[in-house]
Amino acid sequence: MTAKILVSACLMGHAVRYDGASKPLVHPAIDRWRLEGRLVTICPEMSAGMPVPRPPAEIASGMSGTNVLDGGATVVENTGRDITGEFLDAAENALALARETDCRFALLIDGSPSCGSGFVYDGTFSGARHAGQGVARNGIEVYSDREIEALVERIDGPRQPR
Ligand code: SF4
Repeated sequence: MTAKILVSACLMGHAVRYDGASKPLVHPAIDRWRLEGRLVTICPEMSAGMPVPRPPAEIASGMSGTNVLDGGATVVENTGRDITGEFLDAAENALALARETDCRFALLIDGSPSCGSGFVYDGTFSGARHAGQGVARNGIEVYSDREIEALVERIDGPRQPR
């Protein structure tokens, strides 16, 4: 069976980032995977109803000094607005699409609090409300754009010497 890959929309050239830009990932494997029908594109933030453009957001630690994976953290816009709920929705949407389309892999922008949370989120950053969500917690292998070569090798096998 052809392994499917859930991929950040902005990596695929869609202008969906908070500033209205994209961040295309240029690699021959991307073009081939697209032709093979392997790529399933999502912008988790837009899927949760967030507009383009939008204020930049970051993960804020909780009162106890915990980080996003330790529980108690929130996600806030630079305006101070709490958008933790939208991020939780984004995580659920990414997982639901991955399940519907049978994705075994995910490829996301490195270091993005948004896609990082949407794809890797482990269900703890707002208590137990959505425990167990997040594609990484559901058997999907997650790679950042900087790990594209590792994903190529995982899907296509080791490169043969010439
Ligand atoms: Fe790109 Fe993900 Fe942010 Fe959407 S949520 S703009 S796909 S990094």
